[in-house]
Amino acid sequence: MSLVYTPARPQAANLESLIGNTPLISFRRVTAHLPDNVQIYAKAEWMNPGGSVKDRAAANIIRQAEIDGRLQPGMTILDSTSGNTGIAYAMLGAAKGYPVKLFLPANASPERITILKAYGAQLELTDPLEGSDGAIRAVRALAAADPDAYFYADQYNNPANWQAHYQTTGVEIWEQTDGALTHFIAGLGTSGTLMGTGRRLKDYNPDVQVVALQPDSAFHGLEGWKYMPTAIKPGIYDEFFPDRQVGISTEATHVMLRRMAREEGYLVGTSAAAALVGSLQIADELAAAGEPGVIVTLFPDNAYKYLSDKLWVE
Ligand code: PMP
Repeated sequence: MSLVYTPARPQAANLESLIGNTPLISFRRVTAHLPDNVQIYAKAEWMNPGGSVKDRAAANIIRQAEIDGRLQPGMTILDSTSGNTGIAYAMLGAAKGYPVKLFLPANASPERITILKAYGAQLELTDPLEGSDGAIRAVRALAAADPDAYFYADQYNNPANWQAHYQTTGVEIWEQTDGALTHFIAGLGTSGTLMGTGRRLKDYNPDVQVVALQPDSAFHGLEGWKYMPTAIKPGIYDEFFPDRQVGISTEATHVMLRRMAREEGYLVGTSAAAALVGSLQIADELAAAGEPGVIVTLFPDNAYKYLSDKLWVE
């Protein structure tokens, strides 16, 4: 009989289980002018382990590819990304033992490049003038050249992207609002967040209004968002799905970024501030019409990756 002592294992979490179940936050000052029956809340997605909402999509893309055999041990995860999805792949690849190779525009912020390298990802920097579309074209060429070596995650066309939000984000928002929400508002990058969360919420209640936000011009500073009229259209995006489209200005977003930090204590990323600008516009319209509303938006990340942009210095 062996007398070797084996301690009981404490209940510990693995990395993937830290993704999702983010809190829903409210505001003290930026919403103070609204009547009590018009409310705005946001999902604090920077609380995911990779620091953004994209942990949800990346984890589901990898999990689905493992299940259907498109990702096998020894293969490299490949994609183009302006940042957050890449960080999520790099983090999950490190944890699960897959090399990760990413194409991104050379003007990606130094913080992001440093984070990606810290996780051990291989980076291919593409022409900044071509933006995220240039990175997409380059990654497609490599994936086609060596399909056995690479799993091309293809976040713009992979249904596992929007399904991540259908399975998690939408359910969480419904439960956190006790089904009382009237509007879901989100910006469009791949559109995964809006399509998946919006579909789930409309399944629960078809009257929920889904509002898509975009930059109001092709040349904008809204990191993570796409101006759809001139961008390569993501395969997962259905432009007829949202009930409404609203354009957001970069200038109004920068003002809101500083207000969030100084009046609310939330040091959020640019697309979070832009989402709040859009949410306040809808809230103001409801208040002016004397209608009630429970508006939920989503703050994709916090500001730590953007501090070198000096947006907080007037
Ligand atoms: N904000 C940020 C900061 C992002 O990185 C992204 C993803 N590109 C988005 C918003 C948009 O999310 P989605 O891809 O789900 O449309």
